[in-house]
Amino acid sequence: MRAVKSKNTKPELAVRRLVHRLGYRYRLHRKDLPGKPDLVFGSKWKVIFVHGCFWHGHDAKGCLKAKRPTSNTTFWNAKLTLNKQRDVRRGRELRNLGWKVLTIWECETSNVAALRRRLDTFLR
Ligand SMILES: [Zn+2]
Repeated sequence: MRAVKSKNTKPELAVRRLVHRLGYRYRLHRKDLPGKPDLVFGSKWKVIFVHGCFWHGHDAKGCLKAKRPTSNTTFWNAKLTLNKQRDVRRGRELRNLGWKVLTIWECETSNVAALRRRLDTFLR
């Protein structure tokens, strides 16, 4: 199992590469913003989070990566639920500050064409 909150994960790098190719400039992990968003587009007031499906509790039907462990279920349920609540809170804080927030899930990064369209639509 991968470490919590690791930076520069594969999905994150995939998103960065696409954004870069689309010609947008960004800053990484700005510490002065709630949740240290993965990509920050300051002049546009937009941020992107790239979330690992397991740690952030992706609950989409088609997601195979977010399966919860079958042992220590009490521990994992509490931990992963806290992670989710924290994400929701941080998203709200950012929106209240005037930021537009896009969340990309790990399992969504394998379809490059769809991902590219989403990023372009959000950033345009
Ligand atoms: Zn997922």
